[in-house]
Amino acid sequence: MNKQTNKNLDLELKKFFFEKAPELLTRASMGWIYTLSYEKDFLIDNFYLKETNQSKKKKNIKYLKKRSFKQNFDLFEKLQSFFSIKEKWKFMKEINTKKNLGVLNDSFENATDKVALQLAKKFLSSNKKLNVLVIGAGCCGLFFANNLKKKLGKLTNILVCDNRIQQPGVREPYSRNWLTNLPKFLFTNKVDESLTEVFDWFSNGNYIGVTLNMMEILLLQSCKKNDIKFLFKDDPYDDLIKESNVDLLVDATGGKIYECYPSHKEKNILLKIPTNQNNNEYLSFFLKEKNNYHYPFFLDKQIINYQFKIVGIAENLSTVISKYINENNNDNLFYIWVGKLNKELNEVLIIVNIKEPDIEIFYDLLKKRICIKEFEFFDKKTKSRIDNRIVELIKIILNTKTNLDQIYLEPPFSYTPRIKLFYKNLPTYYDRTIIPIGDSYYTGNAKVGNGLGMHLLYIDELTKAMTKCF
Ligand SMILES: Cc1cc2nc3c(=O)[nH]c(=O)nc-3n(C[C@H](O)[C@H](O)[C@H](O)COP(=O)(O)OP(=O)(O)OC[C@H]3O[C@@H](n4cnc5c(N)ncnc54)[C@H](O)[C@@H]3O)c2cc1C
Repeated sequence: MNKQTNKNLDLELKKFFFEKAPELLTRASMGWIYTLSYEKDFLIDNFYLKETNQSKKKKNIKYLKKRSFKQNFDLFEKLQSFFSIKEKWKFMKEINTKKNLGVLNDSFENATDKVALQLAKKFLSSNKKLNVLVIGAGCCGLFFANNLKKKLGKLTNILVCDNRIQQPGVREPYSRNWLTNLPKFLFTNKVDESLTEVFDWFSNGNYIGVTLNMMEILLLQSCKKNDIKFLFKDDPYDDLIKESNVDLLVDATGGKIYECYPSHKEKNILLKIPTNQNNNEYLSFFLKEKNNYHYPFFLDKQIINYQFKIVGIAENLSTVISKYINENNNDNLFYIWVGKLNKELNEVLIIVNIKEPDIEIFYDLLKKRICIKEFEFFDKKTKSRIDNRIVELIKIILNTKTNLDQIYLEPPFSYTPRIKLFYKNLPTYYDRTIIPIGDSYYTGNAKVGNGLGMHLLYIDELTKAMTKCF
């Protein structure tokens, strides 16, 4: 890209990020306020737990010298070939296990690692186009790539990298089968049409409905169809950045590459969020810096709570479950959410808060996701130590005459909100502007809807601003 356009782009990005920053802070704070207002009994004091309980997943990557996989097949064509919606849905649910389709392969599948890197450098070395390196092929990185390509077409070369791999050239399966709450307007005319057609098959009304991992796989395939390239390798991309003509770095890693950012000068920032229309009443948060992110504290206590999910519950159980929850939820232990898929596919998601003394127990019980049926075999002593309402709710589900094979208890996770704040200028890495999107910018609270949906909205606004320079 020529120097003048590059300069204009930097100015436009700076204007965009700094003008939007107050709005982003307000959006992010919606999640903190929700937790303070409705889940204060579950806020935790003991930060030590947070550090020690993180699951440290050991990677087992096989290093094969030569990559040899089948050619990518056309997922959208394949889906068209099924007659019923149920068949299409079944195929999508099983797609991660269909290894020979090459769905998770990168764009340099037949090259050695070294050659793949060379080809990637070459791809990002155009003098005429905007060369964008997106780090992170999760939902926001993929949406950004798809959305920008739709707007700029041949004016841009986009390469998306990811380090969560089975082996070089092949990404790990997308596994988060979580229901989403994303309105269709976020996608309509903003991404490739083949995607929105698939969403229409599965959804009920104005929401896309599909699970997070389905959305990711569909976005990935649609990006590939639109000439966006992928590189799946697990070591850093510094050589790729230094030895190509990358114009812009997009951090879509969910906050994993915090060390690429310069440290913020202000370590403690007082933030007052108005709580009424007249702006004369406030909630005061302290934002404290750690690892180049700012974390909200209220009255000296960090906003952080632990939860686990029960997923895959068929919609027809929602009445009996809701009844129990409504009668036993004075402290908001449970959060129940009925999905937005069409009737025959729809599911219910339950998020269960965990009290501080029970966190260790749940980390022990749910080291990995387990089918709900296994809960029956947990020893009585352990069950007696956790909140009895959780045991009762699970019993109710187990006693329903339904297929329990699809219902899972997922490992615990924490809601630990944080936000990236900028200091005077946009950050750079190896002299390239680096911009955070999605959870790399701030983490939302799934219960308030200030997470993924708002990230996608923001990304579309961001790419609109970028397009002005071309
Ligand atoms: C515990 C939890 C539960 C949630 N539950 C729900 C829910 O039920 N429904 C819902 O809609 N939303 C939910 N959300 C929110 C949603 O998951 C996030 O908003 C969304 O995943 C953010 O997308 P992202 O692309 O920014 O980050 P991610 O989805 O985290 O994607 C990051 C990508 O970057 C890659 N990556 C990481 N580090 C590197 C690196 N160094 N180099 C290259 N690649 C890298 C990762 O492999 C991954 O592909 C939840 C979030 C959390 C944390």
